[in-house]
Amino acid sequence: MEQQTVRGTGVVAGYAYAPAAWTRPAPVPPASTTMVGEDDRPAEVERFKAAVETVATRFADRASAATGVATEVLGATAALARDRGWSRAAIKLINAGTGAEGAVTAAIGQFVAQFEKLGGLMAERTTDLKDIRNRVVAELMGLPEPGVPKPTSPVILCAEDLAPADTAGLDPTMIRALVTRLGGPTSHTAIIARQLGIPCVVAASSLDTVPEGTLLLVDGTSGIITLDPDAAAAADLVEEDTRLREEIRSWRGPARTADGTPVQLLANVQDGKAAAKASQSEAEGVGLFRTELCFLTAQTEPSVAEQARIYGEVFSAFPGKKVVVRTLDAGSDKPVPFANHEHEENPALGVRGIRLGWTNAGLVERQLDAIQMAAEDNDIAEAWVMAPMVATVDEAFEFAQMCRERDLKPGIMVEVPSVAMLADQFIEEVDFFSIGTNDLTQYTMAADRMSSHLAMLTDPWQPAVLRLIQLSAAAGQRADKPVGVCGEAAADPLLACVLIGLGITSLSMATNAIPAVGVQLGKVTLQQCQEAAIQVAASRNSRDAKELAAKLLG
Ligand code: PEP
Ligand code: MG
Repeated sequence: MEQQTVRGTGVVAGYAYAPAAWTRPAPVPPASTTMVGEDDRPAEVERFKAAVETVATRFADRASAATGVATEVLGATAALARDRGWSRAAIKLINAGTGAEGAVTAAIGQFVAQFEKLGGLMAERTTDLKDIRNRVVAELMGLPEPGVPKPTSPVILCAEDLAPADTAGLDPTMIRALVTRLGGPTSHTAIIARQLGIPCVVAASSLDTVPEGTLLLVDGTSGIITLDPDAAAAADLVEEDTRLREEIRSWRGPARTADGTPVQLLANVQDGKAAAKASQSEAEGVGLFRTELCFLTAQTEPSVAEQARIYGEVFSAFPGKKVVVRTLDAGSDKPVPFANHEHEENPALGVRGIRLGWTNAGLVERQLDAIQMAAEDNDIAEAWVMAPMVATVDEAFEFAQMCRERDLKPGIMVEVPSVAMLADQFIEEVDFFSIGTNDLTQYTMAADRMSSHLAMLTDPWQPAVLRLIQLSAAAGQRADKPVGVCGEAAADPLLACVLIGLGITSLSMATNAIPAVGVQLGKVTLQQCQEAAIQVAASRNSRDAKELAAKLLG
């Protein structure tokens, strides 16, 4: 008998077998036209304030009980719940006679509409705001907290999509996997699942056909969810997976393939704190320091000395090791107030990354001065520096010149397909490439990386993306210059093997992803990777590419 399956995009590898548990739906608030008499309004305001405080306190308590990213996410949501902006709007509505439930819905609705118009990171905050709305309304209506159930036996959590606050409070001993109908590979759901070390599948469009309590087998690699699978076979898969996870937990670097070929595994960091954490891991250095993330709230450009202090914190976490600093990639999904190019119709295709230097004279030069100063302070003879969003050979040439004038080792990111197409010309201008597969996939497939509807396209397993990686790596080999990968693709253990087979020389990823990649590389030889890579890059679609890689390298 054919087994019933639901397919999505697998974003965190691993198997889980347990009954489905759906998130509790949002409450339906009374219509916002419910009016409150003038005398009752002060009490209604107090009722509103108490509900907000209860919800915010719950978030803050969960933040204190959590660790790592979860603490930050929950703390930020508690602060957003207490934010005076939306509260003031709600109180104004209550004072005009609207019932508290309706006032919350209308006030948050205004902010959501505004944020959605702004797009990018701001639009992502709307999931948090809607989550706060649902919880405050439920509290006002005396209903149980909506969102994630608190199971007492293991379950697979199924949801339309998960708010960051939901995913941050999860107990991985009870929640064995996350499956969502929406969401993409870079969504919060995927990030938190990775941190918790539980399998995750997103964009499973027919998940709504799965009833509560159905036994599910989740495969976080292929994205296939099997309904009511053979119990013994499912249990075997999970057991084997548990063994693999133990292997991952105890893995120690440096990474080598089964035949002893070294593979440099590096960390992606956003500040000195993250670099310090990475230095405690098996990371051999930093492959991508996203400097723009240090300045997401900076209204004015920090001085060269202040920038040098910030960059120095990352250098000092890895004395004598490779640290690749990326110049500001402001714009689009990472708005930096002092650097952003305002009012663009299409910011992902606009003045972002290295292009900001066209309209903001000296911005790139001042940052390079700061990197030089930090490198000198940390006794680094030639720090690696790369530019994001380069599209023309002239840009690469000019950037390399500016770096060399400051004794910095110049590189560029391969994020725009034009670089891969002319890889031989580009590599002549610089000392290294680092492939940003997140943007390279976005621009190759013409698919917004933030869109939850396009997860199938924003997948670095797309053969067209693999072919561009192949072109870039081959140019690096001909010129005898390193070509790394620092996008999410590097964190996928199976894809990491394919990348090494394509000729990639280093892989940079979230610190937590390093051991799983190290374990997988240790199971295959370089020749196996090379042979598999040729076939995988010639696949017809991303699904075939993944299945073929799993067959040849899994
Ligand atoms: C990328 O595009 O793959 C990349 C590493 O840069 P970011 O994700 O910061 O845009
Ligand atoms: Mg990028």
